[in-house]
Amino acid sequence: MCSTTQQPVRSTAELRAAGLGRAAVAAGLGDGSLVRLRRGVYASDGSCDAIRRAAEHGGSLACVSAARHLGLWVCGEADELHVWLRAHGRAYTHDDCVCVGHWDAAGAKDAFGIPSVPQVLRQILLCVGVEDFFVALESARRQRLISQRGLAWLRSHTNAAGRDAIAFSRSDADSGLESLVRWRLRPHGLPLRTQVRLTSVGVVDFLIGERLIVEVDGVVNHHDQPHRHKDLVRDANAAAWGFVTLRFDYAMVVHDWVTVELAILGALDRGLHLA
Ligand SMILES: [Zn+2]
Ligand SMILES: [Zn+2]
Ligand SMILES: [Zn+2]
Repeated sequence: MCSTTQQPVRSTAELRAAGLGRAAVAAGLGDGSLVRLRRGVYASDGSCDAIRRAAEHGGSLACVSAARHLGLWVCGEADELHVWLRAHGRAYTHDDCVCVGHWDAAGAKDAFGIPSVPQVLRQILLCVGVEDFFVALESARRQRLISQRGLAWLRSHTNAAGRDAIAFSRSDADSGLESLVRWRLRPHGLPLRTQVRLTSVGVVDFLIGERLIVEVDGVVNHHDQPHRHKDLVRDANAAAWGFVTLRFDYAMVVHDWVTVELAILGALDRGLHLA
């Protein structure tokens, strides 16, 4: 998440309105507190690189790029920059431009302000798809970045797939990976519970039925030896109590879901989840 400074990018008119005349702008450029991005557009020194590149392109962060900036979970890599150009905005090409333009009418107070969280989520649904929308939505709910009013707005400004995902979403998902796994297993209608505390094992990511544990290791902390040792002890304790553990990592869930799905369904076929 980036530290969001108040209005990191401003037009000349906005600078004037804030009492910064020609001399003050020149002084700011001199001492580095202002950076000129293109004609009539200035960034203050606290603004992050993504915000500056969006402004160079002619707008502000949108969609998955805005979600990342706000600290929401977003699947996949961040190579493309999604830029909100507003309804009649003009796109400018610049160095290393790999921007995806958004021209919807989402509102914002400032010329370079980011759309609100509900609007950002709506952009993700329409631009990237319902799965990414769902993951970002659960993250916004978990972090209390969307209000009940915001959710209601989203419900009435989205399509049937979006409303279905909103109805399925929860406010207690522990990570984007957990949301993604729940979403991808959903069509199978499994008896799935999350964050279940088991005697002598601890809290497991998922429990399917009574006996099948599914653990999904996040990106951090799972490559070092002490952690690996802890996982093995956990799995051994679980086995002693009659549980079966399947363990996957981030790369498998995101890039090789077919293998993950087959492993889980194979265990279910053999009834390993039954008491
Ligand atoms: Zn987009
Ligand atoms: Zn940022
Ligand atoms: Zn660009």
